Amino acid sequence: MPTYSEDEIRDLIEGKLSWEMLKRMMSSPKDSDRFETYVAVLQKRVSWQDRILLPLAEHLYIVQKGESRVVKCDCGHEFGDYRQNWKLEALINVRDTDAKLGEVYIGPRVGENGGSRRTELREYYCPGCGLQLEVEAVPPGYHALFDFLPDLDAFYARWLEKPLPSGTEKEWFVDKTYEVTSEWANELKSSK
Ligand SMILES: [Zn+2]
Repeated sequence: MPTYSEDEIRDLIEGKLSWEMLKRMMSSPKDSDRFETYVAVLQKRVSWQDRILLPLAEHLYIVQKGESRVVKCDCGHEFGDYRQNWKLEALINVRDTDAKLGEVYIGPRVGENGGSRRTELREYYCPGCGLQLEVEAVPPGYHALFDFLPDLDAFYARWLEKPLPSGTEKEWFVDKTYEVTSEWANELKSSK
């Protein structure tokens, strides 16, 4: 099984590998320490010290923060517990009119010319650095898509065979997004 250096994995991440090398990497079985090397490269690219547990998306990571596991951007901005959809803490731009969609999309669309619109684009931005982190196309009123809720403990224990310290938390692998939205609902109720 081939193994690759940190420099080679860094070049892979940055899109600097030659096509020959890239093709060889893609065609051969993954090296067994690829994940660790990948995370080590990512860790050197960020300016903060928190341990990266898992890259979540381009520019986003789940990091260990004391006993918590939080979503963090390249720039250092933190979105909170990784079990709550980070999009709820992002800046959101919604494209829900022909004029707003026309700025980024040219072509025929269902619902144009007075018909009912079936889709809107939601752009999510980091409040810390302003980077666009995600775009989703959903029906109006649809909840924010929770793209990825990984079972970190299963991944570390069963795949990497290096269990994570679980701290005082009994059950990590739970979607806690609705705790945020129900808190918002309560705030709305009490403000009426
Ligand atoms: Zn940021």
